[in-house]
Amino acid sequence: KRLILIGPPGSGKGTQSPIIKDEYCLCHLATGDMLRAAVAAKTPLGVKAKEAMDKGELVSDDLVVGIIDEAIKKPSCQKGFILDGFPRTVVQAEKLDEMLTKQGTKIDKVLNFAIDDAILEERITGRWIHPPSGRTYHMKYAPPKVPGIDDVSGEPLIQRKDDTAEVLKSRLEAFHRQTEPVIDYYYKKGVVSQLHAEKPPKDVTAEIQKSLS
Ligand code: ADP
Ligand code: ADP
Ligand code: ADP
Repeated sequence: KRLILIGPPGSGKGTQSPIIKDEYCLCHLATGDMLRAAVAAKTPLGVKAKEAMDKGELVSDDLVVGIIDEAIKKPSCQKGFILDGFPRTVVQAEKLDEMLTKQGTKIDKVLNFAIDDAILEERITGRWIHPPSGRTYHMKYAPPKVPGIDDVSGEPLIQRKDDTAEVLKSRLEAFHRQTEPVIDYYYKKGVVSQLHAEKPPKDVTAEIQKSLS
């Protein structure tokens, strides 16, 4: 399957991805994770992306389209993929269509993580992550066994620099202005499934499984 996850920051995309990834044997491509790794490694891509990310604005279409173009050609992604956080603009969606048409494939489903903005600040400011594995915790909703420590590896958890109430405002603005039109773009193609992303994680997983069956 070739899936796209769309939703505002904190809607649960990263929490659900590993579950669907394992169940359907897909590769997980999260542009935010890839960009953060590039920033940490100070690669030319990371240097170009950092300023926009710190401000909660989108990185240029050319940069992210380049990353995805390379990633979806990998052997491990030929059976299918989850795009998490991409496309975020209509231009990115159009470029993705071109790439897939060249491969003779297409998007099967777009999962829309619909949720009220009011819930997101608490989710974002309480988020702790383990970058090497992508595991995500929440101070209140999904606490690690030992505070600040990853359950599996015993390594430290971190908070994202952009996970503040202030930067979240810009990220939400970018979502409504630039990414919501992407949902309409896919609605017209008839491939969108609506999720109730404010529900507990297990309920959201069940909704996803139903929409993919
Ligand atoms: P979240 O999971 O909180 O929705 P991400 O980790 O997906 O956020 O993205 C973090 C930041 O990386 C974004 O605020 C943006 O600056 C950048 N970014 C990620 N994906 C894209 C994309 N497809 N287009 C442009 N910028 C992106
Ligand atoms: P996204 O990838 O869409 O930005 P995450 O999956 O990282 O969102 O979730 C943001 C935060 O909210 C994390 O700390 C996560 O543990 C928590 N969270 C995710 N899904 C739910 C849910 N259904 N109910 C409550 N908290 C959730
Ligand atoms: P149990 O293992 O006892 O069945 P659940 O896994 O259903 O418990 O979780 C109980 C509650 O904790 C859920 O209703 C949800 O709100 C919260 N929760 C569980 N996992 C997460 C997660 N990854 N992110 C955010 N909240 C979570």
